[in-house]
Amino acid sequence: MDNNVMFKIGYGLYVLSARLDGYDNGCIINTFMQTAENPNKVVCAVNKANYTCEMIRKSGEFNVSLLDESADFSLFKRFGYQSGRDTDKFKDFDKTERSKNGLIYISCHTNSYISCRVISENDMGSHILFTAQVTDAVMLQDTRSLSYDYYQNNIKPGRSSEEQKKTGWICKICGYIYEGEELPADYICPICKHGASDFEKLQ
Ligand code: FE
Repeated sequence: MDNNVMFKIGYGLYVLSARLDGYDNGCIINTFMQTAENPNKVVCAVNKANYTCEMIRKSGEFNVSLLDESADFSLFKRFGYQSGRDTDKFKDFDKTERSKNGLIYISCHTNSYISCRVISENDMGSHILFTAQVTDAVMLQDTRSLSYDYYQNNIKPGRSSEEQKKTGWICKICGYIYEGEELPADYICPICKHGASDFEKLQ
């Protein structure tokens, strides 16, 4: 099986946000889609290692901010490359507002947001698949939604000349570099929490 095929699946990119006991947190997801209408229902898959996942399981609510093509890499570093367990990702970040459900959404580099209430969850192994009802959907501006493909080709930075000298393995998801000849089979990326199968040897 060629795992690279998984990268050929078309996805969007979103900031998923949740609130628990007065604490706001969010992470980047690519798996979000509508699955029913009247009423609108959606699903999203969230890595169990993400604190946002735990917060949604406890609170039963989340917002999805739909990023547009103006998003820059700093947004992905903020929401995708650190953990909300030890970092307040919204600290010193003023591009947010609160929706009717009291949760945060991203008000810049997004074209809309969707508020959701969890109906059920399925344990997929590495991820939890949440099925949810849409409680609100708000258009912010009519801009092009960001695709995963656009992100890979236009936003994610290439490796610096310093990094190109290193020997090791690179995470195809986030670009983290593991230095060393052999990558342990049970290795988990410390940044994005993907496993060894998502790493490839540096040339
Ligand atoms: Fe990674």
